[in-house]
Order: sequence, then structure tokens, then C-alpha cells
Amino acid sequence: MPFDAKSILPSLEDLLNLIYPCVCLQCGLAIQKINLEPPKGLGAGDDSGFERPHSFCPPCWRSIRRLEGPACPVCSAPLASEAALSHSPSHRCGDCRENTPAFSFAVTPFAHEGAIAKAIHVYKYQNQPRLARPLVHLFINDIASLQIDTVMAIPLHHTRLREREFNQSLLLAKEVSRLLEIPLQINAMQRIRETPSQVGLSRKARKKNIHRAFQVRNPEFIQAQRILLIDDVYTTGATLREGAKTLIRCGAKNVVVAALARMVSS
Ligand SMILES: [Zn+2]
Ligand SMILES: [Zn+2]
Repeated sequence: MPFDAKSILPSLEDLLNLIYPCVCLQCGLAIQKINLEPPKGLGAGDDSGFERPHSFCPPCWRSIRRLEGPACPVCSAPLASEAALSHSPSHRCGDCRENTPAFSFAVTPFAHEGAIAKAIHVYKYQNQPRLARPLVHLFINDIASLQIDTVMAIPLHHTRLREREFNQSLLLAKEVSRLLEIPLQINAMQRIRETPSQVGLSRKARKKNIHRAFQVRNPEFIQAQRILLIDDVYTTGATLREGAKTLIRCGAKNVVVAALARMVSS
């Protein structure tokens, strides 16, 4: 009988279960097994080799809160009451009325809390680029039907890129581009100023901090394009507003922005 190496070699799944710590990062629960099943709803033919976020237990991952209820039709900020929208369906939030964004609208489906906040933190600051894929799978259905020609990411300044080793928004954009089969544009826009971290700054300070931080070096790449601009977290929207403004000023037809999670006051 011929020797069959396959029968004694561990499977990829067995190896992954050995390599990655099987403890939920959110609740500490031991996770028995990594499941490589693709998520539901991602049509046939997806051979992305989806990895369930093996650092989170299924209950924690499922507890990620989707933002539902009345929201600003432009920036998707949750509105305090349904009343405003029932009188005028196009009722915009105070921020958008005061200062209309250059983007057409914002897709921010999840509250930045619990497992998703933890996952984004681990992804960004603990150098875990492999989390890009499961994170994108969380919101791919929210952006799949958009009419877009080009996917882009909020660029990092090169000194920040050296510190962090990867641009977290670009990896998300890459994954979106691959799944939706829409070209990714990585060279058109740069961050020309190294802006101090936005963490802890007020809305006004954030706006000032990010003002004119981006530059389009290759406007021909974005001319008349419908662009999806991606970032990881939508806090006050200052960064995505400035990015969209820069792209529109340089010839983009329109810009839709998307972020995985949104800071909301509970
Ligand atoms: Zn858990
Ligand atoms: Zn708004």
C-alpha cells in the first residue's frame, strides 16, 4: 500500500488551533476550536479562506451591536428621537447642518464598544493584521450595493507607518476591494503632515488638527471617480470629512465614506 503523507500530517485547522491562543480576548473564555467556515450570506464562489476571529469567542463576536434606529441621512449619526425624521425624512444632524460634509453619506454600522472595539484595538496596536479579514466580513454587506468605481483608504503619514508597520485602514480597503472586485487606489492621496493622535481631542481640535493633512498627488487617478473612502473608526468624522473634501476638490465625482465602528455616547 503506498504511503499517504496526508493521513499523518495535521490539517491547516489543527495547526491554527495549535498556533493561536484559544482564549477570547473579550471575556477570557477558552475557545475550543477555530472554525474556518465562511460566514453566511457571502455567496458561493467566495474562496477567501475566511477565518473566524479566533481571538474572540462566538458569543462575544455575535454580541457586536449594530447601530439601528433614527440616524442622520448624511453622516449616519444616531439621532435622539424618531420625531425629527418623521416630520422631515431628510433631517440632518446638527453637525451636518452646520458644516455639510463633502462626502455623500457615511456607512458606520457598528457601535465602537465591546468586542469590536477590542478587536480594532488589537488589530491596530498589537500588530495583528490578520484580523483585517474577519473585520471586513462584518460590514461587507453594508457596502456591497454601493455604486463605486474605486476603493481608497485614509493614508497614514510615513513616520506613523514605520511605527505601526501597516496602515490599518489600507488593509481593510484592500480586503473590500478584493471581495467586491473594485479597484483599489493606493497612490493617489498622501498624508503630508504628521498630525498628532486625534485620541482625546475635542471635535473642534480634531478638525483643526487634520486640516489640510492630505494631498492628492495624482489627480488623474481619481478624476470623475465614485470613491469609497475607508477608515477603521468614525469618531467625530473629522478625518473622513477632510479626506473626502480633498478628493472632491481634486476632481472625484463623489465620495462615500465607511468605517467599521462609530463612537457613540451611550
Ligand atoms: Zn468571549
Ligand atoms: Zn450628520
